[in-house]
Amino acid sequence: MNHELQEELNIFKEMVRRFIEQEIAPYYEQWEEDKIIPKSVWHKMGEAGLLCCDIPEEYGGFGVTVDFNFLVIEEIAKAGFFSLSCNVLVHSDIAAHYILNMGNEQQKKKYLAQMVSGHCIGAICMTEPCAGSDLQAMKTTATKNDDGWTLNGSKTFISNGQNASVYIVAAKTNLDVAGSKGMSLFLVDGDKQGFARGQNLHKMGQHASDTSELFFEDVSLSENDLLGELDQGFAALMNELPRERLGCAVVGVAHAEGALELALEYIKERQAFGAPLAAIQDIRQKIADMATTTELHRIMIEHYKTLLNDKLLTPVQASMAKYSATEMECEVIDMALQMFGGYGYMKEYPISRFYVDARVQRIYGGTSEIMKEIIGKSYIGRL
Ligand SMILES: Cc1cc2nc3c(=O)[nH]c(=O)nc-3n(C[C@H](O)[C@H](O)[C@H](O)COP(=O)(O)OP(=O)(O)OC[C@H]3O[C@@H](n4cnc5c(N)ncnc54)[C@H](O)[C@@H]3O)c2cc1C
Repeated sequence: MNHELQEELNIFKEMVRRFIEQEIAPYYEQWEEDKIIPKSVWHKMGEAGLLCCDIPEEYGGFGVTVDFNFLVIEEIAKAGFFSLSCNVLVHSDIAAHYILNMGNEQQKKKYLAQMVSGHCIGAICMTEPCAGSDLQAMKTTATKNDDGWTLNGSKTFISNGQNASVYIVAAKTNLDVAGSKGMSLFLVDGDKQGFARGQNLHKMGQHASDTSELFFEDVSLSENDLLGELDQGFAALMNELPRERLGCAVVGVAHAEGALELALEYIKERQAFGAPLAAIQDIRQKIADMATTTELHRIMIEHYKTLLNDKLLTPVQASMAKYSATEMECEVIDMALQMFGGYGYMKEYPISRFYVDARVQRIYGGTSEIMKEIIGKSYIGRL
Protein backbone atom coordinates (compact mmCIF):
# COMPACT_ATOMS: atom_id res chain seq x y z
CA MET A 1 0.00 0.00 0.00
CA ASN A 2 1.37 3.41 -0.91
CA HIS A 3 2.28 5.99 1.73
CA GLU A 4 -0.37 8.50 0.69
CA LEU A 5 -3.20 5.94 0.91
CA GLN A 6 -1.93 4.79 4.31
CA GLU A 7 -1.96 8.38 5.56
CA GLU A 8 -5.52 8.89 4.35
CA LEU A 9 -6.60 5.65 6.00
CA ASN A 10 -5.00 6.72 9.30
CA ILE A 11 -6.93 9.99 9.28
CA PHE A 12 -10.13 8.13 8.34
CA LYS A 13 -9.53 5.64 11.17
CA GLU A 14 -9.38 8.45 13.73
CA MET A 15 -12.65 9.79 12.41
CA VAL A 16 -14.32 6.35 12.53
CA ARG A 17 -13.10 5.83 16.11
CA ARG A 18 -14.54 9.18 17.18
CA PHE A 19 -17.84 8.26 15.55
CA ILE A 20 -17.91 4.93 17.41
CA GLU A 21 -17.13 6.63 20.72
CA GLN A 22 -19.77 9.34 20.31
CA GLU A 23 -22.54 7.78 18.24
CA ILE A 24 -22.38 4.04 18.87
CA ALA A 25 -20.88 3.10 22.23
CA PRO A 26 -23.29 5.08 24.45
CA TYR A 27 -26.40 3.64 22.77
CA TYR A 28 -25.46 0.11 21.75
CA GLU A 29 -26.90 -1.69 24.77
CA GLN A 30 -30.26 -0.09 24.13
CA TRP A 31 -30.15 -1.23 20.50
CA GLU A 32 -29.42 -4.75 21.72
CA GLU A 33 -32.51 -4.58 23.92
CA ASP A 34 -34.58 -3.14 21.08
CA LYS A 35 -33.19 -5.84 18.73
CA ILE A 36 -32.60 -3.23 16.05
CA ILE A 37 -30.34 -0.32 15.18
CA PRO A 38 -32.39 2.84 14.60
CA LYS A 39 -32.51 4.17 11.05
CA SER A 40 -31.28 7.52 12.38
CA VAL A 41 -27.91 5.85 13.08
CA TRP A 42 -27.69 4.81 9.43
CA HIS A 43 -28.42 8.40 8.43
CA LYS A 44 -25.64 9.64 10.73
CA MET A 45 -23.24 7.08 9.31
CA GLY A 46 -24.16 8.26 5.84
CA GLU A 47 -23.60 11.90 6.77
CA ALA A 48 -20.21 11.00 8.22
CA GLY A 49 -19.24 9.23 4.97
CA LEU A 50 -19.03 5.77 6.52
CA LEU A 51 -21.34 3.88 4.14
CA CYS A 52 -20.55 2.44 0.70
CA CYS A 53 -17.31 4.46 0.61
CA ASP A 54 -15.99 2.85 -2.56
CA ILE A 55 -19.07 3.51 -4.68
CA PRO A 56 -17.97 5.78 -7.59
CA GLU A 57 -18.54 9.51 -7.24
CA GLU A 58 -20.97 9.58 -10.17
CA TYR A 59 -23.34 7.48 -8.04
CA GLY A 60 -22.91 9.53 -4.89
CA GLY A 61 -20.01 7.64 -3.30
CA PHE A 62 -16.45 8.71 -2.66
CA GLY A 63 -14.75 6.52 -5.25
CA VAL A 64 -12.10 5.37 -2.76
CA THR A 65 -10.67 1.86 -2.47
CA VAL A 66 -12.37 -1.01 -0.65
CA ASP A 67 -9.88 -0.45 2.21
CA PHE A 68 -12.08 2.40 3.44
CA ASN A 69 -15.21 0.21 3.52
CA PHE A 70 -13.37 -2.51 5.38
CA LEU A 71 -11.80 -0.06 7.82
CA VAL A 72 -15.26 1.05 8.97
CA ILE A 73 -16.52 -2.47 9.68
CA GLU A 74 -13.21 -3.57 11.19
CA GLU A 75 -13.14 -0.72 13.70
CA ILE A 76 -16.75 -1.35 14.69
CA ALA A 77 -16.10 -5.10 15.05
CA LYS A 78 -12.91 -4.54 17.06
CA ALA A 79 -14.82 -2.29 19.46
CA GLY A 80 -17.29 -5.15 19.99
CA PHE A 81 -20.33 -3.68 18.21
CA PHE A 82 -20.48 -6.66 15.95
CA SER A 83 -24.16 -6.53 14.91
CA LEU A 84 -23.58 -3.15 13.36
CA SER A 85 -20.41 -4.18 11.54
CA CYS A 86 -22.22 -7.15 9.98
CA ASN A 87 -25.26 -5.08 9.01
CA VAL A 88 -23.01 -2.50 7.37
CA LEU A 89 -21.08 -5.26 5.58
CA VAL A 90 -24.33 -6.53 4.05
CA HIS A 91 -25.34 -3.00 3.04
CA SER A 92 -22.07 -1.42 1.85
CA ASP A 93 -20.12 -4.41 0.61
CA ILE A 94 -22.76 -6.80 -0.62
CA ALA A 95 -26.08 -5.18 -1.57
CA ALA A 96 -24.58 -1.96 -2.99
CA HIS A 97 -22.06 -3.92 -5.05
CA TYR A 98 -24.69 -6.17 -6.58
CA ILE A 99 -26.40 -3.01 -7.80
CA LEU A 100 -23.15 -1.36 -8.90
CA ASN A 101 -21.90 -4.40 -10.78
CA MET A 102 -25.13 -5.70 -12.25
CA GLY A 103 -27.53 -2.78 -12.26
CA ASN A 104 -28.46 -0.67 -15.28
CA GLU A 105 -28.04 3.12 -15.18
CA GLN A 106 -31.59 3.71 -13.98
CA GLN A 107 -31.21 1.23 -11.10
CA LYS A 108 -27.83 2.61 -10.04
CA LYS A 109 -29.19 6.17 -10.06
CA LYS A 110 -32.30 5.14 -8.13
CA TYR A 111 -30.53 3.31 -5.30
CA LEU A 112 -26.82 3.96 -4.89
CA ALA A 113 -26.74 7.60 -3.73
CA GLN A 114 -29.53 6.80 -1.27
CA MET A 115 -27.51 3.86 0.03
CA VAL A 116 -24.43 6.05 0.49
CA SER A 117 -26.51 8.50 2.54
CA GLY A 118 -28.02 5.69 4.63
CA HIS A 119 -31.57 6.59 3.60
CA CYS A 120 -31.98 3.35 1.70
CA ILE A 121 -30.70 0.26 3.52
CA GLY A 122 -29.99 -2.84 1.44
CA ALA A 123 -30.54 -6.54 2.11
CA ILE A 124 -29.62 -9.65 0.19
CA CYS A 125 -32.18 -12.43 0.16
CA MET A 126 -31.02 -15.89 -0.83
CA THR A 127 -31.83 -18.24 2.04
CA GLU A 128 -35.21 -19.94 2.31
CA PRO A 129 -36.59 -22.26 4.96
CA CYS A 130 -35.60 -25.28 2.83
CA ALA A 131 -32.70 -23.78 0.90
CA GLY A 132 -29.59 -22.59 2.73
CA SER A 133 -26.33 -24.24 1.74
CA ASP A 134 -28.25 -25.86 -1.09
CA LEU A 135 -29.53 -22.75 -2.85
CA GLN A 136 -30.56 -24.81 -5.82
CA ALA A 137 -33.51 -26.04 -3.75
CA MET A 138 -34.92 -22.50 -3.83
CA LYS A 139 -38.73 -22.36 -4.19
CA THR A 140 -39.36 -18.62 -4.61
CA THR A 141 -40.50 -17.95 -8.17
CA ALA A 142 -40.85 -14.96 -10.46
CA THR A 143 -43.36 -15.63 -13.24
CA LYS A 144 -43.37 -13.55 -16.43
CA ASN A 145 -46.48 -11.53 -17.26
CA ASP A 146 -47.21 -8.79 -19.80
CA ASP A 147 -45.86 -5.94 -17.62
CA GLY A 148 -43.01 -7.68 -15.87
CA TRP A 149 -42.94 -10.33 -13.16
CA THR A 150 -45.00 -11.75 -10.32
CA LEU A 151 -42.96 -12.80 -7.30
CA ASN A 152 -44.11 -15.50 -4.86
CA GLY A 153 -42.30 -17.23 -2.04
CA SER A 154 -40.48 -16.54 1.20
CA LYS A 155 -36.99 -15.98 2.59
CA THR A 156 -35.57 -16.37 6.05
CA PHE A 157 -32.60 -15.25 8.18
CA ILE A 158 -32.31 -12.02 6.17
CA SER A 159 -29.93 -9.46 7.70
CA ASN A 160 -31.28 -5.88 7.66
CA GLY A 161 -34.62 -7.60 7.09
CA GLN A 162 -36.65 -5.05 9.07
CA ASN A 163 -34.71 -1.89 8.29
CA ALA A 164 -34.08 -2.39 4.58
CA SER A 165 -35.92 -0.51 1.86
CA VAL A 166 -34.38 -2.42 -1.04
CA TYR A 167 -34.21 -6.21 -1.09
CA ILE A 168 -32.17 -8.09 -3.66
CA VAL A 169 -34.22 -11.26 -4.03
CA ALA A 170 -33.17 -14.47 -5.75
CA ALA A 171 -36.02 -16.31 -7.49
CA LYS A 172 -36.44 -19.10 -9.99
CA THR A 173 -37.41 -17.71 -13.39
CA ASN A 174 -37.20 -20.92 -15.36
CA LEU A 175 -38.63 -24.04 -13.78
CA ASP A 176 -37.82 -26.21 -16.79
CA VAL A 177 -34.11 -26.26 -16.09
CA ALA A 178 -32.57 -28.07 -13.16
CA GLY A 179 -30.01 -27.05 -10.60
CA SER A 180 -28.34 -23.67 -10.63
CA LYS A 181 -29.78 -22.60 -13.97
CA GLY A 182 -32.92 -20.53 -14.30
CA MET A 183 -32.47 -18.30 -11.25
CA SER A 184 -32.57 -14.50 -11.46
CA LEU A 185 -32.18 -11.54 -9.11
CA PHE A 186 -34.77 -8.83 -8.53
CA LEU A 187 -34.80 -5.47 -6.80
CA VAL A 188 -37.82 -5.39 -4.52
CA ASP A 189 -38.76 -2.13 -2.79
CA GLY A 190 -39.90 -2.51 0.78
CA ASP A 191 -43.21 -0.74 0.13
CA LYS A 192 -44.41 -3.12 -2.63
CA GLN A 193 -47.89 -4.51 -2.26
CA GLY A 194 -47.80 -8.20 -1.39
CA PHE A 195 -44.43 -7.92 0.35
CA ALA A 196 -44.39 -8.44 4.12
CA ARG A 197 -41.65 -8.43 6.70
CA GLY A 198 -42.08 -11.31 9.12
CA GLN A 199 -40.88 -11.36 12.70
CA ASN A 200 -37.52 -9.98 13.74
CA LEU A 201 -35.98 -13.33 14.69
CA HIS A 202 -34.70 -14.05 18.22
CA LYS A 203 -31.03 -14.99 18.02
CA MET A 204 -28.43 -16.21 20.51
CA GLY A 205 -26.17 -13.27 19.62
CA GLN A 206 -25.87 -10.20 17.42
CA HIS A 207 -28.93 -8.93 19.24
CA ALA A 208 -28.84 -5.43 17.77
CA SER A 209 -29.05 -6.82 14.27
CA ASP A 210 -32.45 -7.25 12.63
CA THR A 211 -32.66 -10.70 11.04
CA SER A 212 -36.00 -11.53 9.48
CA GLU A 213 -38.32 -13.71 7.58
CA LEU A 214 -39.76 -12.12 4.43
CA PHE A 215 -42.88 -13.03 2.47
CA PHE A 216 -43.79 -12.32 -1.14
CA GLU A 217 -47.36 -12.88 -2.27
CA ASP A 218 -48.11 -11.93 -5.87
CA VAL A 219 -45.70 -9.02 -5.71
CA SER A 220 -45.78 -7.16 -9.05
CA LEU A 221 -42.38 -6.29 -10.40
CA SER A 222 -41.62 -4.30 -13.54
CA GLU A 223 -39.18 -5.33 -16.27
CA ASN A 224 -36.77 -2.85 -14.79
CA ASP A 225 -36.76 -4.62 -11.41
CA LEU A 226 -34.75 -7.48 -12.90
CA LEU A 227 -31.16 -7.07 -11.70
CA GLY A 228 -28.61 -8.35 -14.18
CA GLU A 229 -29.34 -10.93 -16.81
CA LEU A 230 -32.34 -13.22 -16.87
CA ASP A 231 -31.62 -16.74 -15.57
CA GLN A 232 -28.03 -15.75 -14.71
CA GLY A 233 -28.57 -15.11 -10.99
CA PHE A 234 -26.44 -18.00 -9.85
CA ALA A 235 -23.46 -16.85 -11.89
CA ALA A 236 -23.96 -13.33 -10.50
CA LEU A 237 -23.98 -14.74 -6.99
CA MET A 238 -20.73 -16.56 -7.61
CA ASN A 239 -19.14 -13.31 -8.82
CA GLU A 240 -20.13 -11.41 -5.70
CA LEU A 241 -19.40 -14.10 -3.13
CA PRO A 242 -15.61 -13.54 -2.91
CA ARG A 243 -16.14 -10.00 -1.65
CA GLU A 244 -18.85 -11.11 0.79
CA ARG A 245 -16.71 -13.93 2.14
CA LEU A 246 -13.61 -11.80 2.46
CA GLY A 247 -15.80 -9.29 4.31
CA CYS A 248 -16.76 -11.98 6.85
CA ALA A 249 -13.09 -12.83 7.27
CA VAL A 250 -12.13 -9.17 7.68
CA VAL A 251 -14.62 -8.52 10.49
CA GLY A 252 -13.70 -11.90 11.99
CA VAL A 253 -10.04 -10.96 12.32
CA ALA A 254 -10.91 -7.54 13.75
CA HIS A 255 -13.28 -9.19 16.22
CA ALA A 256 -10.51 -11.57 17.37
CA GLU A 257 -8.10 -8.64 17.72
CA GLY A 258 -10.65 -6.82 19.87
CA ALA A 259 -11.06 -9.87 22.11
CA LEU A 260 -7.29 -10.20 22.46
CA GLU A 261 -7.08 -6.57 23.57
CA LEU A 262 -9.79 -7.14 26.19
CA ALA A 263 -7.98 -10.24 27.49
CA LEU A 264 -4.66 -8.39 27.69
CA GLU A 265 -6.19 -5.61 29.77
CA TYR A 266 -7.89 -8.08 32.08
CA ILE A 267 -4.94 -10.39 32.77
CA LYS A 268 -2.80 -7.45 33.82
CA GLU A 269 -5.38 -6.38 36.39
CA ARG A 270 -6.89 -9.59 37.72
CA GLN A 271 -5.00 -11.04 40.67
CA ALA A 272 -4.69 -14.75 41.44
CA PHE A 273 -2.25 -16.48 43.77
CA GLY A 274 -0.77 -13.12 44.78
CA ALA A 275 0.06 -11.88 41.28
CA PRO A 276 -1.66 -10.74 38.08
CA LEU A 277 -2.90 -13.53 35.79
CA ALA A 278 -0.32 -12.29 33.28
CA ALA A 279 2.40 -13.64 35.56
CA ILE A 280 1.21 -17.21 34.95
CA GLN A 281 3.17 -18.96 32.23
CA ASP A 282 0.17 -20.87 30.90
CA ILE A 283 -1.70 -17.60 30.37
CA ARG A 284 1.28 -16.15 28.50
CA GLN A 285 1.49 -19.25 26.30
CA LYS A 286 -2.18 -18.88 25.42
CA ILE A 287 -1.72 -15.18 24.68
CA ALA A 288 1.14 -16.15 22.36
CA ASP A 289 -1.14 -18.58 20.49
CA MET A 290 -3.89 -15.98 20.20
CA ALA A 291 -1.52 -13.24 19.05
CA THR A 292 0.23 -15.47 16.53
CA THR A 293 -2.92 -16.74 14.91
CA THR A 294 -4.56 -13.30 14.69
CA GLU A 295 -1.35 -11.88 13.20
CA LEU A 296 -1.22 -14.68 10.59
CA HIS A 297 -4.81 -14.02 9.61
CA ARG A 298 -4.22 -10.27 9.55
CA ILE A 299 -1.45 -10.85 6.99
CA MET A 300 -3.72 -13.13 4.98
CA ILE A 301 -6.62 -10.70 4.79
CA GLU A 302 -4.39 -7.71 4.01
CA HIS A 303 -2.97 -9.66 1.08
CA TYR A 304 -6.45 -10.69 -0.05
CA LYS A 305 -7.72 -7.11 0.22
CA THR A 306 -5.04 -6.13 -2.30
CA LEU A 307 -6.12 -8.97 -4.58
CA LEU A 308 -9.75 -7.86 -4.26
CA ASN A 309 -8.78 -4.28 -5.15
CA ASP A 310 -7.04 -5.63 -8.26
CA LYS A 311 -10.03 -7.91 -9.02
CA LEU A 312 -7.79 -10.94 -8.64
CA LEU A 313 -9.26 -12.57 -5.53
CA THR A 314 -10.49 -16.06 -6.45
CA PRO A 315 -13.56 -17.79 -4.96
CA VAL A 316 -11.24 -20.40 -3.45
CA GLN A 317 -9.04 -17.81 -1.75
CA ALA A 318 -12.14 -16.05 -0.41
CA SER A 319 -13.41 -19.39 0.92
CA MET A 320 -10.06 -20.06 2.60
CA ALA A 321 -10.15 -16.64 4.23
CA LYS A 322 -13.77 -17.03 5.38
CA TYR A 323 -13.29 -20.54 6.70
CA SER A 324 -10.00 -20.02 8.44
CA ALA A 325 -10.56 -16.52 9.83
CA THR A 326 -14.00 -17.26 11.30
CA GLU A 327 -12.86 -20.51 12.91
CA MET A 328 -9.88 -18.62 14.33
CA GLU A 329 -12.16 -15.81 15.53
CA CYS A 330 -14.28 -18.25 17.55
CA GLU A 331 -11.22 -20.00 19.03
CA VAL A 332 -9.48 -16.77 20.05
CA ILE A 333 -12.64 -15.31 21.56
CA ASP A 334 -13.25 -18.54 23.46
CA MET A 335 -9.71 -18.44 24.86
CA ALA A 336 -10.11 -14.77 25.78
CA LEU A 337 -13.39 -15.45 27.58
CA GLN A 338 -11.78 -18.30 29.51
CA MET A 339 -9.23 -15.84 30.92
CA PHE A 340 -12.07 -13.82 32.42
CA GLY A 341 -13.26 -16.84 34.42
CA GLY A 342 -16.83 -16.46 35.69
CA TYR A 343 -16.85 -12.75 34.87
CA GLY A 344 -16.50 -13.66 31.20
CA TYR A 345 -19.90 -15.33 31.40
CA MET A 346 -21.56 -12.18 32.76
CA LYS A 347 -23.35 -9.92 30.33
CA GLU A 348 -21.81 -6.77 31.78
CA TYR A 349 -18.40 -7.94 30.55
CA PRO A 350 -18.14 -7.16 26.82
CA ILE A 351 -16.19 -10.36 26.16
CA SER A 352 -19.43 -12.32 26.67
CA ARG A 353 -20.97 -10.40 23.77
CA PHE A 354 -17.94 -11.12 21.58
CA TYR A 355 -18.55 -14.81 22.27
CA VAL A 356 -22.23 -14.99 21.34
CA ASP A 357 -21.83 -12.64 18.39
CA ALA A 358 -19.00 -14.61 16.79
CA ARG A 359 -20.62 -18.02 16.56
CA VAL A 360 -22.75 -17.37 13.50
CA GLN A 361 -19.73 -16.26 11.49
CA ARG A 362 -19.01 -19.95 10.81
CA ILE A 363 -22.55 -20.40 9.48
CA TYR A 364 -23.71 -17.47 7.34
CA GLY A 365 -22.13 -16.44 4.06
CA GLY A 366 -21.53 -20.15 3.46
CA THR A 367 -20.80 -22.55 6.33
CA SER A 368 -17.29 -23.72 7.18
CA GLU A 369 -18.18 -27.14 5.74
CA ILE A 370 -19.27 -25.60 2.44
CA MET A 371 -16.09 -23.49 2.36
CA LYS A 372 -14.05 -26.66 2.79
CA GLU A 373 -16.00 -28.35 0.00
CA ILE A 374 -15.15 -25.48 -2.35
CA ILE A 375 -11.49 -25.54 -1.36
CA GLY A 376 -11.18 -29.34 -1.43
CA LYS A 377 -12.94 -29.75 -4.76
CA SER A 378 -10.82 -27.07 -6.34
CA TYR A 379 -7.56 -28.67 -5.17
CA ILE A 380 -8.53 -32.24 -5.99
CA GLY A 381 -10.39 -31.41 -9.20
CA ARG A 382 -13.70 -32.97 -10.11
CA LEU A 383 -13.51 -36.77 -10.02
C1 LIG B 1 -27.76 -14.32 11.78
C2 LIG B 1 -27.88 -14.82 10.38
C3 LIG B 1 -27.86 -13.89 9.33
C4 LIG B 1 -28.03 -14.34 8.02
N1 LIG B 1 -28.08 -13.41 7.00
C5 LIG B 1 -28.45 -13.82 5.75
C6 LIG B 1 -28.72 -12.86 4.71
O1 LIG B 1 -28.61 -11.64 4.91
N2 LIG B 1 -29.11 -13.33 3.51
C7 LIG B 1 -29.27 -14.66 3.23
O2 LIG B 1 -29.62 -15.01 2.12
N3 LIG B 1 -29.01 -15.59 4.21
C8 LIG B 1 -28.62 -15.21 5.45
N4 LIG B 1 -28.38 -16.14 6.44
C9 LIG B 1 -28.55 -17.55 6.13
C10 LIG B 1 -27.23 -18.31 6.07
O3 LIG B 1 -26.49 -17.95 4.94
C11 LIG B 1 -27.58 -19.81 6.12
O4 LIG B 1 -28.05 -20.08 7.42
C12 LIG B 1 -26.38 -20.69 5.79
O5 LIG B 1 -26.05 -20.57 4.43
C13 LIG B 1 -26.65 -22.18 6.10
O6 LIG B 1 -27.85 -22.60 5.58
P1 LIG B 1 -28.90 -23.39 6.51
O7 LIG B 1 -29.09 -22.58 7.73
O8 LIG B 1 -30.08 -23.71 5.70
O9 LIG B 1 -28.15 -24.72 6.94
P2 LIG B 1 -28.09 -26.09 6.08
O10 LIG B 1 -27.74 -25.76 4.68
O11 LIG B 1 -29.31 -26.85 6.34
O12 LIG B 1 -26.85 -26.81 6.76
C14 LIG B 1 -26.96 -27.52 8.00
C15 LIG B 1 -25.60 -28.14 8.31
O13 LIG B 1 -25.27 -29.10 7.29
C16 LIG B 1 -24.00 -28.81 6.74
N5 LIG B 1 -23.99 -29.12 5.31
C17 LIG B 1 -24.92 -28.81 4.38
N6 LIG B 1 -24.52 -29.21 3.17
C18 LIG B 1 -23.29 -29.77 3.32
C19 LIG B 1 -22.36 -30.37 2.43
N7 LIG B 1 -22.59 -30.46 1.13
N8 LIG B 1 -21.20 -30.85 2.96
C20 LIG B 1 -20.93 -30.75 4.28
N9 LIG B 1 -21.79 -30.21 5.16
C21 LIG B 1 -22.96 -29.71 4.70
C22 LIG B 1 -23.82 -27.31 6.95
O14 LIG B 1 -22.46 -26.95 6.91
C23 LIG B 1 -24.45 -27.11 8.31
O15 LIG B 1 -23.52 -27.45 9.31
C24 LIG B 1 -28.17 -15.72 7.74
C25 LIG B 1 -28.15 -16.64 8.80
C26 LIG B 1 -28.04 -16.19 10.10
C27 LIG B 1 -28.09 -17.21 11.21
